[in-house]
Parts: sequence; C-alpha cells; structure tokens
Amino acid sequence: MTFASLGLIEPLLRALETLGYQTPTPVQAQAIPAVLAGRDLMAAAQTGTGKTAGFALPLLQLLTMEGPKVAANSARALILCPTRELAEQVHASVAEYAQHLPLTTYAVYGGVSINPQMMKLRKGVDILVATPGRLIDLFRQNALKLNQLQTLVLDEADRMLDLGFSEELANIYRMLPKKRQTLLFSATFSDDIRLLAGQMLNDPLSIEVSPRNVAANTVKQWVVPVDKKRKAELFVHLMRKGRWKQVLVFAKTRNGVDALVDKLQGLGINADGIHGDKPQATRQRALDRFKASDVQILVATDVAARGLDIEDLPLVVNFDLPIVAEDYIHRIGRTGRAGNTGEAISLVCADEVNMLSAIEMLTRQTLTRNMEPDFEPEHRVPDTDASGQVVKKPKKPKKPKTSGGGGKRNLGKWVDSGDVAPAEPSIKPVRKVPVFNTGPRKKK
Ligand code: AMP
Repeated sequence: MTFASLGLIEPLLRALETLGYQTPTPVQAQAIPAVLAGRDLMAAAQTGTGKTAGFALPLLQLLTMEGPKVAANSARALILCPTRELAEQVHASVAEYAQHLPLTTYAVYGGVSINPQMMKLRKGVDILVATPGRLIDLFRQNALKLNQLQTLVLDEADRMLDLGFSEELANIYRMLPKKRQTLLFSATFSDDIRLLAGQMLNDPLSIEVSPRNVAANTVKQWVVPVDKKRKAELFVHLMRKGRWKQVLVFAKTRNGVDALVDKLQGLGINADGIHGDKPQATRQRALDRFKASDVQILVATDVAARGLDIEDLPLVVNFDLPIVAEDYIHRIGRTGRAGNTGEAISLVCADEVNMLSAIEMLTRQTLTRNMEPDFEPEHRVPDTDASGQVVKKPKKPKKPKTSGGGGKRNLGKWVDSGDVAPAEPSIKPVRKVPVFNTGPRKKK
C-alpha cells in the first residue's frame, strides 16, 4: 500500500517523500480514508504508531479542498493535547506535513505569555494545536472564536482525563459548533474515555491497531528487583555495564527527578531533568539537548515526558514504576517507535509490587525478572503474574534455634508493612468526569 493509493493529494505526498515515509502504518491505512470520507473516529492507537500523521494528513487535505478561508480570530481545526510538549511536537509534525500547502498552523499552551498568542490569532489560523486550559483562556478573552471549526481532534484523550482536564473538556465541548468532525485518539480505553467518546462523537468508526491496553511488542521489557535505597547505585551500575548512550528515565516525583539528576551529575554523568516545576523554556531546552544527544540521560516525570517523540530512542528506564498503570504503556512507547526495536527496564522495589502487578494485568504479560548480581534485594519483591495476583510467599521458616531457648523464629523475607522502606509521597491522579458522566461512576 502507498500513501497515493489512500487518496492523498500531491503536495502531501511530496512532503512525505521528503520525510522518508514510504508505507502507511496500520493506523494511517485505516484512519486516512475514513477521515477523508468525513467520518468521526475513535482510535485506539498508542504513541509510536504514526497516529499523528493518521489524523493530520487527511485533516490538512480536507482543509485545503473544502471550506471557507479562515476568518479573523478563528480556527478551522483544533487539535487538543494534554501537555505543552505534545502540543509543540504535534504542531511541528503538522507544519512539516503542511509545508507545500497554503495553510497556517499554530500551537498555544500555558506557562508562557498569552499576549503573543492573542496577536498571532488575530488573522486566524487554519489548524490550532492547544492544551485545554490555554484554549479556554483565549476563548474567554475573545481572542478565539470556534464557530468556523470544522474538525476537532482529541489527542491522547486518556491522558487529558488522567491529568484532570475533564472539566476543561466539558467547557470546550459547550463552545464547539454542533456540526463538526471529531477524531478521538487514545492509547487506552477506560470507561471514562468511552463516556467522553459517547458524548463527543457521532457514529464513529472504531480503529484498533494494537490489542486494547497491550504495550508495543517491539519493546523488550524486563524488571530488575532491587531495594529502594540502592536504586540509584543499580542504575549507575547498569548504565556503565550496558554502556548506555541515550536513556530516558522516569521517576515518580519532582523531588525524585532532582535527586537522581544531582546524583548523576555528581558522578560526572551528563544528565538533565524535566518536570512540571521547571519553566517551559528550561524543559524545552533540556529536551532539545537530549534529542541532539548533548545530554545523555534525561530524567522526567510522567507529565513532562508525555508524548515525547525522540527518534530511535533505544532505552527507557523506569526508575520508579508509575502510579497509574496505563502510564507504563505511555512510558515504554517512547522507545520501539516506527518499527524500531527498543528496551524498557524497570527497577522495582518491594513496595512497588502492587504497581507491578497492575501493569502486568493491564499489559497481559508477566514481566521477566532479571536479578542483578550484588544487587539482590534484602526485601524480596513478591511474585506477580498477569492475573493480577501478588503471591506473598514466605520462604520456608528455618528451624528455630533450640539452644538457649530464646531464638527468634525467622519468618522469611516476605514483605510486611514494617519491613519495607517508607513509600514516596503518593500522588493520586485526578479523575473526574462531571459532564460526560451519565451514570454512576465505575471504579477503574
Ligand atoms: P506518532 O505515533 O505519531 O508519534 O509517530 C511516531 C514516529 O513515527 C514519528 O517520528 C513519525 O515521524 C514517524 N512516522 C509516522 N508515520 C510514518 C511512516 N508512515 N513511515 C515512517 N515513519 C513514520
């Protein structure tokens, strides 16, 4: 199959040729004809599948072939993204695909001054990429009208809900014209997402390019059990042993990111960190330097790393497991992209066993455990499997010492609450769906 056979116009084909895209990916093969035919879409496509081109190419074609010229302070298509980084990345892709078309594109997000964005919108833009909060601000300040909107794309919709944007989405929904095309992309499909889709989409075509909630099979995944206090030491050991060149590392908290970066830099390792407390410009600079291989190790929280597309990233390390199991799929989706193979290593300590179990259940696989010599944990990580079972199996108790009569019984190395190091402060993901929720909320 070729892009031409999907009915794409010549200026788009020329752009794809420059980018070296030869064959459509499965999501593109399904999405492009459907979007060109005007259908709404509900697509289960994880990052790395080529989903951006899947919606952007037909969208650009429709905007070129149909509809009036964009009016002042208006947008003809809106792509909503959960984070600034993803908005920038999607915008960069859209701009590349549109390079031979007479269309204007722009990205708006929070954390930077709103005034230049308001100025830029004065003439109107054909495609606007936006994060939900800033979009609403611009709308309320009359810098943007949505009555000309032909198409709405919800990119990484699951993530938008996980980040607590359900209220913003409900507000945006009320701002939209009734007659429009809507395309929803999500890596995972929870009940909340299905509710959102039910409200926003009209007779959508469902596309599923990989089995629901299953992580990319181009990524080799394994786990190293380790005591929490030795994680940093193990990381440095594995890094030296494996001669890692470029690694994206995920830590659970902002403090965790800073602590690991400090430790690595203290050892003379070229590392940088990104998290939500850092200004946008600093985050972008760290990311650009990582992409340019000027930084070897980039440590990030989930929010900051969402949607990053770094070509040929060979390795992702979960320094901490994610609190939300779906984030595991997003994290490891940073590697093994566009047909490449990748590796994802998780350093797992005893008090993360429930997260490990949730991930195995979601991805329907039992992750291989590789014990690293000299790093065998004192606090054993209980056995887990894809059924969601955590097997807290004590080792056979040793015979009690008889001499002296006061010998303590050895209860083995399985974990109880007094046995593990204190947990990191836990962050509860915000998940509210006020407007879209039509029935009693089901627990995820
Ligand atoms: P996405 O899933 O949209 O984030 O895309 C993942 C990566 O695949 C991006 O770097 C794209 O540039 C690349 N890509 C998308 N479609 C194709 C294609 N048909 N051929 C080659 N690379 C592609």
